[in-house]
Amino acid sequence: MIRVTTVPVKTYVSKSKIPGAEYVINPYIGCPHKCLYCYAEFMRKFSAHREPWGDFLDVKICENPLPPSQLFHRNVLLSSVTDPYNPFEKKYEVTRRLLEQLVACQAYVSILTKSALATRDIDLLMQLPGCEVAFSFSTVDETVRQLIEPGTSSIDEKIDALKTLHHAGISTAIMAAPLLPGISDWKAIVERTAPYVREFRFDSLNMKGTFQRKLMDFIDVHYSHLLPLYNEIYLQGKHDYWHKLQQEIETYGEKHPIDVKVFFGKESSFSSRLNTTEETSSAHMPGTESSQPQLF
Ligand code: SF4
Repeated sequence: MIRVTTVPVKTYVSKSKIPGAEYVINPYIGCPHKCLYCYAEFMRKFSAHREPWGDFLDVKICENPLPPSQLFHRNVLLSSVTDPYNPFEKKYEVTRRLLEQLVACQAYVSILTKSALATRDIDLLMQLPGCEVAFSFSTVDETVRQLIEPGTSSIDEKIDALKTLHHAGISTAIMAAPLLPGISDWKAIVERTAPYVREFRFDSLNMKGTFQRKLMDFIDVHYSHLLPLYNEIYLQGKHDYWHKLQQEIETYGEKHPIDVKVFFGKESSFSSRLNTTEETSSAHMPGTESSQPQLF
């Protein structure tokens, strides 16, 4: 049962240090997608919520319009510590109203989501200059998705959404992240989505988030044969697994007509539009642990 509350805020926009984003907008606090590995759980510290992460959602309500002079031709990310298309967006339409204003601002918008609901706003996305919609995939195995990302759209729904956006002329990308050692089949992700995608970005699972215990319990219950591998990577700190995987992915990228970026051990970028070396802060980009909240 998710507790949904509306909360007034002074602004939706925060300055961002995430590579590729000058500003970030998080229309909600909390995320009902409930991904097992969610880095945004640290946001609970900045709210009064005592419920587990995923069991509450604050719908931000702001009376002040987005400032066009501030956002004209600026890179804006939706979102870093929530999914702008969580299932309650259907009812509250906060993201949709923000996009209407971003169209007026002619901002360069990048959307990062795990929801097929993004297709609802194609009419607005088409009016934004150089808009990109990136879908996160840790797996294309529906059984695994239900276990690790229970609130998100199904794999088929996400792929259909990619296809629809691609055919509408919207730039699309895959954030293949976090890749879970021994579980995420990166090649299957590429093969299922490649016809509809401009660029693939890969990032590894790190274990710095508060989800560490939850995730290890999950491995213990469902993939106990992988415990030695997880111990090797996360307790002994060996990097061989990631080095080998990075080589495999980059070699594949050289042999196939796809654009590939691997961020293992580096700062992830949600977009190739900009490429800076600033420190990052994002829940959806799991190679980097969030250090600062992006609220208000
Ligand atoms: S990883 Fe993203 S989609 Fe999943 S619960 Fe966290 S904020 Fe939501």
